Amino acid sequence: MTAILPVAQGNWYQKTDIGGGITLILEPYVDVLEQANIWHVRGRDCDLLIDGGMGIVPLRPAFPELFEGRKTIALATHTHLDHIGAIHEFEERWVHLIEAATLEHPKGSLVSADMDPKLRAMFEAAGYPPLGTYLIHALPYEDYDPASYRLKGTKATRLIEEGETVDLGDRKFQVLLVPGHSPGSIALFEEKTGILFAGDVIYDGPLLYQGPGMDVGDYLGSFEILERLPISTVHAGHDPSFGKERLDEIIASYRARWRSEGLIQA
Ligand SMILES: [Zn+2]
Repeated sequence: MTAILPVAQGNWYQKTDIGGGITLILEPYVDVLEQANIWHVRGRDCDLLIDGGMGIVPLRPAFPELFEGRKTIALATHTHLDHIGAIHEFEERWVHLIEAATLEHPKGSLVSADMDPKLRAMFEAAGYPPLGTYLIHALPYEDYDPASYRLKGTKATRLIEEGETVDLGDRKFQVLLVPGHSPGSIALFEEKTGILFAGDVIYDGPLLYQGPGMDVGDYLGSFEILERLPISTVHAGHDPSFGKERLDEIIASYRARWRSEGLIQA
């Protein structure tokens, strides 16, 4: 298959400093379906990278100002292909133990036709635009062959569990196990600021709930955990960030939807 795609202009990644020591990194040329947020948090003693994008081009050399000379914990909120691509580039690689095996032996393809037809139908039913030939809209460089894409598996250096703390020296994040989107999905909550890094358990776009490893009952339990937290801002795995009011709205809309679809009891 020959790619009829333009070559990306400039950096493959796009970086935005959102203040408070937090940087958002995106891959704008990746299809919106797989365009995940990569979050970087500067800490006093070490930094935290939350998720690692698609791994189409190396992340670390793209931003020496973030990574050079710094100890960085690369933590995967879960192990879907759009969240783990660059995790292998870092010395510290953390994931929930339920998903450690997937981090080590991940699967992924940029060829849309490789996607399981049921999954593809689910994405389209959830409201995502139909996919093109590839999951990217530009090539990272000339001669790049999207069919050659492989995710690099990596062994976790630490298996994290519910209730642990990720400590950056001056910032502490509580680890929450929030399954639903995937069995070992985790979110990170910072009590001092009320910031929640949610991964894919909730974001302000079409949530996926009927694919492999997804479970509506688990989602409901996770939503209850989120509702109890004094959250100020949600930085999620996809889409723009939002506040507590929108969080409650999204949760309410999915509860209603799943009830009307007969997936949960009325
Ligand atoms: Zn995901």
